[in-house]
Amino acid sequence: MRKAKRLDNIPPYLFARIDKAKTAIIKSGADVIDLGVGDPDLPTPPHIVQALHKAIDDPKTLGYPPYEGTTAFKEAVAAWYKKRFDVDLDPKSEVLSLIGSKEGIAHVFTAMLDPGDYSLIPDPCYPVYKMATLLVDGIPYSLPLLEENGFLPDLKAIDEKVLKKAKLLFINYPGNPTGAVAHKGFLEYAVAFSREHDLLLCSDLAYSEVAYDGYKPMSVLEVPGARDVAIEFHSLSKTYNMTAHRIGMAVGSAQAIAALSVVKTNIDSGIYKAIQAAAVTALLGPQDSIAEQNAVYARRRDVAVEGLNSLGWKLEAPKASFYIWARIPRIYSTSSIFCQELLEKSHVLVVPGNGYGQAGEGYFRISITSPENRISEAIDRMKKARMTFE
Ligand SMILES: *Cc1c(COP(=O)(O)O)cnc(C)c1O
Repeated sequence: MRKAKRLDNIPPYLFARIDKAKTAIIKSGADVIDLGVGDPDLPTPPHIVQALHKAIDDPKTLGYPPYEGTTAFKEAVAAWYKKRFDVDLDPKSEVLSLIGSKEGIAHVFTAMLDPGDYSLIPDPCYPVYKMATLLVDGIPYSLPLLEENGFLPDLKAIDEKVLKKAKLLFINYPGNPTGAVAHKGFLEYAVAFSREHDLLLCSDLAYSEVAYDGYKPMSVLEVPGARDVAIEFHSLSKTYNMTAHRIGMAVGSAQAIAALSVVKTNIDSGIYKAIQAAAVTALLGPQDSIAEQNAVYARRRDVAVEGLNSLGWKLEAPKASFYIWARIPRIYSTSSIFCQELLEKSHVLVVPGNGYGQAGEGYFRISITSPENRISEAIDRMKKARMTFE
C-alpha cells in the first residue's frame, strides 16, 4: 500500500497525541487534572435534550436530511443572527448546516484553494486551518499573532507575491488558543483588506457567546458590505454544550456558501433531522443557560488567573473564550518540555503552545472546562512542585 505523499506533512491530530500521553500517565495510577481539550463539561440545557427526545420519536425525522439543512434550521439560524447581531441573512442562500463547524472549516479550503494557492492563517491557531490547507496541496502562510499586538495579525506585513496567490484569510475572535478578542476597527480593516485583495474572509466565531464582564463579541457580518467577501463559521458546540451533536453553520457570502455546498453535497448527506430540531430549540428557545454557564466559567477563569498570578505570572483575565494563554517559565527551553514536566510532576495536563503553530512556542494553554475545585487543586499542585514563573 502506498499512501498519498501529502499525508507525510500531516501529524496525528494534536489532541490524539495528547490523549496518548494522558492515557499512559493514568495507567500508572495518577489522578490527572485535564485542562487540555476545550470540551465543555457542563450539560446540554434540559429543554434542548427534551426537544431531541421528542424529535427522535417522530418518524418524520427519519430518512436522509436535506443537504443544506432543514428549512426550520436555516430559518432559526437567520433569526438568531438577526436577534443576536442585527444581521439579516437569507436562509435559502446565505445559511448552510455543518456537521460541526470543524467540518465546514476543513471543507472551505477544498472549495477555495487550487494546488499551490496560499491560505492566510493565524499562528497560533486552531490546527484545522493548516492541516486542511495541506490536505488540498495548498500552502499555509502564517500570520504571527504577537502579544504586543493584542494577538491581532499584521495584514500589512504580508508579502505581495503571497497575496497574489492567496485565496482566503482566516480570523478567529474570540480566539483559540489565545483567548484574544478583536475590536470593530480590526474587523472593518479585515473586510476592506479582503475586498482589496480578492480574498474570502473566513471568520471562526465558535466562542461568540462565551464572554465575560459584559463583553459581547461581534460578528464580522456586522461590518457593512461584509457579506460580499466574508463567510462566518459558528456552532452550537460551545454555546449550548453540544459538542457531541455535531451541528454548526456557515453563514454569509452566497457565492462562498454555494461553493462550500458543492463540496459538501458530494461528500456528506447532512445532519440527522432530530438533531437539527434540537438545534432549532436551542437557537430560538430561552437563552438563560448562556449567562449561567458564563458565570461558572468566569469564576473558574478567576481561580486560574489569580492562582497563576500568585505563582509569579502577570496575566490579565481573558474577556472571552474558555482559554488562558500564558508564557512558560523562562527556565524551560520549550513549551513541550514544560508541559511534559507539569504532567509528570503535578499530573496536570495543559497544551503546549507550539501545538498551535510556531508563534505559540514559549506558551501553554489552559482550558477551564473542568470544575473550579480541580483548577484550584492544579494550582496547589504546581505550587508544591515549585512550578512558578520567573
Ligand atoms: C471548538 C472549535 C471549533 C469547532 O467546533 P465544532 O464542535 O466542530 O463546531 C471551531 N473553531 C474553534 C476555534 C474551536 O475552538
